[in-house]
Amino acid sequence: MSEEQTCQRCGEIVELDQDDFELFERMHPDCFHFAFEHDLNRPGITEQENCGDEACPVGA
Ligand SMILES: [Zn+2]
Ligand SMILES: [Zn+2]
Repeated sequence: MSEEQTCQRCGEIVELDQDDFELFERMHPDCFHFAFEHDLNRPGITEQENCGDEACPVGA
């Protein structure tokens, strides 16, 4: 059992505890944000724009 945790969204290795990895739907926390939260308030927003969410990884 040495299966690597790879992000469902970007394909990169995710270095999180397995529980956390599952919590983020098998993605990086940032990828999870972009996948599910980022455009909730501002549909069509690009990933270069801050969406206003506290969790947004885009520099404020
Ligand atoms: Zn990712
Ligand atoms: Zn965001």
